[in-house]
Amino acid sequence: MKLLHSGKVRDVYADGDDLILVASDRISVYDVVLPTPVPDKGAVLTRLSLWWFEQLADIVPNHVISAEDVPAEFAGRAIRCRRLAMLPVECIARGYLAGLGLSEYNAGGQIAGVPLPAGLVEGSRLPSPVFTPTTKAAVGEHDEFVTLDEVRAEIGKDVADELRDLTLRVYERGAAIAAERGIVVADTKLEFGRDADGRVVLADEVLTPDSSRFWPLDQWEPGRTQFSFDKQLVRDWALGTGWDKSAPGPQVPDEVVALTRARYVEVYERLTGLSW
Ligand code: ATP
Ligand code: MG
Repeated sequence: MKLLHSGKVRDVYADGDDLILVASDRISVYDVVLPTPVPDKGAVLTRLSLWWFEQLADIVPNHVISAEDVPAEFAGRAIRCRRLAMLPVECIARGYLAGLGLSEYNAGGQIAGVPLPAGLVEGSRLPSPVFTPTTKAAVGEHDEFVTLDEVRAEIGKDVADELRDLTLRVYERGAAIAAERGIVVADTKLEFGRDADGRVVLADEVLTPDSSRFWPLDQWEPGRTQFSFDKQLVRDWALGTGWDKSAPGPQVPDEVVALTRARYVEVYERLTGLSW
């Protein structure tokens, strides 16, 4: 197998016509990968993605071929999938204001060309979910918002509109399921590709803590930075050491690793209703 790409958290291999997407136990905070892995994190993210693909199968076909037919060394944290021609858009849906969306709103009252009402603050719920696509930035560069019209100009009106509709439907389904379990999906990023027949297929990972902002509903309070379900403990601990957010990050002590692992398992158990 050929290693095609090694991201902060995942590694992508080619195996004939298929891809093997491998989720590691690496954890990144403030875009820096910490030297200490979080056991089972890769398995949690993989199982969660697989579960969501099934929940969404009536909305959109997905790239999954098998979670079993993967090299033994990656068992439990890898997915064999169809290699697609990826569409060059990061499909982001936002139901709440945070992150880059918040900065963009503060700068001009809109995100990706979608106007929003005045008076919203960090963590505010939007009147309705919005599609705020970005370009796929090259390594070391930041993704930039693009308007729906720009996406239409690049990939064609029909496909662009299909991406918007699918993204919003996936977000709405995901947010509704999560809400029943006390979790807010503030936003999420999806990636789609086309298969050999030209059909639009959901790819990459879906509704994981790495691709979405999950907040505990009972602590949601607009007007401040929200508590992040998965990484808050490590972030707070790391900053508490006086770390300046530059690489390399600090070695994480066992008890913080154990608590963080428990948070990932909790996200999985709460969202799916299954036990780990
Ligand atoms: P990082 O997440 O560290 O910023 P990244 O997003 O470039 O980096 P990863 O998320 O680690 O990379 O790797 C996944 C890569 O595989 C992405 O480039 C994604 O577009 C691509 N990909 C996912 N599913 C498929 C698929 N079915 N066919 C082709 N490419 C895919
Ligand atoms: Mg990625």
